[in-house]
Amino acid sequence: MSSADNCVFCRIAAGQIPAQKLYEDDLVLAFHDIRPAAPVHFLLVPKRHVDSLASCTAADTPLLGHMLALAARLAADQGCANGFKTVINTGADGGQEVYHLHMHVLGGPRPWQGAI
Ligand code: 5GP
Ligand code: ZN
Repeated sequence: MSSADNCVFCRIAAGQIPAQKLYEDDLVLAFHDIRPAAPVHFLLVPKRHVDSLASCTAADTPLLGHMLALAARLAADQGCANGFKTVINTGADGGQEVYHLHMHVLGGPRPWQGAI
């Protein structure tokens, strides 16, 4: 069994678990976080399983650049006119809970209730 078999974000990408999707293309999927920590809080994930930022190499540069550029575009689409925050929690000390690479995108009027 591979690490992707029981991965919640792989299952969302495969349509096996429902999610409120905002965007998808061949490489990535964006969906609202199930426990939003800000008025706007969505996640950007690669469709293929990648454990975390720590397992990325130079070969993943196009994917990571695509995720960053999309974060800005989708935050604007979500009405984040005054800015937004991007967060990638990595590993145990980075507070990563789901081991499928994901970028949090948070925005909306402050103060926000939660911490990421
Ligand atoms: P991490 O701490 O790994 O950076 O954050 C994982 C995030 O995934 C959390 O903010 C959590 O609310 C979100 N999350 C976990 N399971 C699900 C799920 O099944 N659906 C959605 N939409 N978000 C999830
Ligand atoms: Zn996965």
